[in-house]
Amino acid sequence: MGVKALWAILLLVGSLFGVQFHYSSTKVANGKTFMITAKPGKNEPIERIYAAFEGKRYPFYRNPIHPKRGYYVLIPIDYHATPHRARVTVVTVKNGEKRYKSRWIRIIKGRYPKESLTVSAAKARLSAEDRKRVDREYKEAMAIYLKETKRPRFRSRFRLPLKSRITSPYGTARLFNHLLKSYHSGTDFKAKTGTPIKAANSGRAVLVKNRFFAGNSVVIDHGEGIYTGYYHLSGFCVKAGDFVKKGDIIGYAGSTGRVTGPHLHLSTTLHGMQVDPLQLFSLLNRL
Ligand SMILES: [Zn+2]
Repeated sequence: MGVKALWAILLLVGSLFGVQFHYSSTKVANGKTFMITAKPGKNEPIERIYAAFEGKRYPFYRNPIHPKRGYYVLIPIDYHATPHRARVTVVTVKNGEKRYKSRWIRIIKGRYPKESLTVSAAKARLSAEDRKRVDREYKEAMAIYLKETKRPRFRSRFRLPLKSRITSPYGTARLFNHLLKSYHSGTDFKAKTGTPIKAANSGRAVLVKNRFFAGNSVVIDHGEGIYTGYYHLSGFCVKAGDFVKKGDIIGYAGSTGRVTGPHLHLSTTLHGMQVDPLQLFSLLNRL
């Protein structure tokens, strides 16, 4: 089914203070994102609107690409989530009065490929020093991802950072002795060393550095809890703190970090969770 057809079957789930809500889907797989859009009626401004889901609050933001279309919220589903029913509640505040609208969605099991690890445990083990470095880098990245820039830094559709073939999709499960050891947290693209890598959208480069697993990495904050990451680069064209425009060359593909050959690993982090980049882009591009 095409994106247009999918969009056409969106469910209208009701209205609240004259606000109409649409859910991108009522079934969402682990590692994917779902979107709710809210369109207020004419002369019915909303003071505040947010979604409550599994103990967390997600703010709605004004549609940054088509502001007249109203508001949107993106909710990421953890890759490690197991199938279950979950309730999402949209809370709308007007004249100090709160109204609630709930509906159930189904978290389903994503159809991800599986890979069995053959490396011995000893080979996969990191030295104490490397482990320290990895922990430090993880904490540093999470501190960035959990800081939410409340304004959008993008005003148009997201684009892929290069035109190339996907060599490894998001979500591939890596099994070790039949146990889930890790998963592929981004999308890999075939890229020769030196291939220019472009910003998927406008934003601010918030992390530009070499890291143990990811190698030379650029992370861009697009605002509203959305980050893109570009890993294993051979060189950088930006510094941390720089504002970049969509399509700007931010670096060159390479094979730095823990990799077997040159490629681009693209990651997307939404409200602190690493989700499927291509699916997130397709949702954002329907705004
Ligand atoms: Zn990768």
